[in-house]
Amino acid sequence: MVVQNPRLSFEVFPPNPAAGNEKIFAALRDMQDLCPHFISVTASNNKFNLEETTVCLANHIQNDLGIPSIAHLPAIYLTKDQVANILTSLDQIGVHKILALRGDIIPHVAPQKDFQYATDLISFIKAEAPHVDIIGACYPESHPDSPSQIADIKHLKKKVDAGCSTLVTQLFFDNEVFYDFQEKCHLADIEVPILAGIMPIINRNQALRLLNTCENIRLPRKFRAILDKYEHDPESLKAAGLAYAIDQIVDLVTQDVAGIHLYTMNNAETARYIHDATHALFHHQDLA
Ligand code: FAD
Repeated sequence: MVVQNPRLSFEVFPPNPAAGNEKIFAALRDMQDLCPHFISVTASNNKFNLEETTVCLANHIQNDLGIPSIAHLPAIYLTKDQVANILTSLDQIGVHKILALRGDIIPHVAPQKDFQYATDLISFIKAEAPHVDIIGACYPESHPDSPSQIADIKHLKKKVDAGCSTLVTQLFFDNEVFYDFQEKCHLADIEVPILAGIMPIINRNQALRLLNTCENIRLPRKFRAILDKYEHDPESLKAAGLAYAIDQIVDLVTQDVAGIHLYTMNNAETARYIHDATHALFHHQDLA
C-alpha cells in the first residue's frame, strides 16, 4: 500500500517590475534543489500588469527551473476579457494550476463588475478552461469581511462546489485554530485537501507589518513571548521564529495535515532552513 505523506510547497511574490527579477531569480535558484511540490506566485491586485509579473515568474519557475507552478489570480479589478487573456497566456506557457481569488477591496477604488467573489471566477475558469486545476483560499480565523464563521464556511462550501480541487489557508500561528476549522469544514461536507499556510517570522519589521494587516489572527502566548523577549535581539528573534514555525509544522504533519504551504517571503535561506529541519517528514512511504 502506498501512503502519500504531506507535501511541502512554497509561495513567492514577484518584485516591483522596476526593480527587475535578478534577486528573485537568484532566490528561486537557491530553492530549486529543495524540490518543493510546487511554487505558487502571488499576483498584484490592481497595481502591476500580471503578464509582466505573475505570468512571467510562473513561466520561469515551471519552464526554466522545472518546478510545478501555480499562478495566483485575484479578479475583483479585472474584466472577463482580461481574465480570458491571462488564461490564454498561462495556457501557452503550460501553467495549468490557478489559485483563484477575489482579491481585497481597495478603499475608494471601484471594483469591476464581472467577478464579485472568487466563486464567480472559478465558474468562469471552469467554463473557459475546464482542464485547469483550480485552488481556492480559506481562512481558519474567518475572512475579515465575514459576519461570522458560519457564513464564511457556507460561502467556502459554494466555492469548493464551483470547482476547487484544493484549498490553501491564510497564515495562522495557533494550530488548534486550524484543527477546529478543518473539523468545521468536514461537518460542512468540504472534503478537498486543505494545505496549511505557515509563515516563519524572522524579523521584527515583518512581525509588526503582519500584526497591522492581519488583526484577526490569534497570537498564542508562546508566540507573543518571542516577539516581546527578542524585540531588540534580531538574531534570537530569527532563531526563535524559525523554531516556532518548525514546531507548528511538526505538529501539523503529526496530525496528518494534507500539506504545508510555506510563505517564504522570497527568502531562500528561510526555505532551506525549514526544509532541512523537516525534510524527513515529507516523503513517500511504501508500506507492506
Ligand atoms: P472570496 O472567497 O470571494 O471571499 C471573500 C469574502 O466574501 C469572504 O468574507 C466570504 O465569506 C464572502 N463571500 C464569498 N462568497 C459570497 C457570497 N456568495 N455572498 C456573500 N459573501 C460571500 N490577494 C492578492 O491580491 N493576491 C494574491 O496573490 C493573494 N494570494 C492569497 C493566497 C492565499 C493562500 C490567501 C489565503 C489569500 C490571498 N490573497 C491574495 C488575499 C485575498 O485576495 C483576500 O483575502 C481577499 O479579500 C479574499 O479573497 P478570496 O478569494 O478568499 O475571496
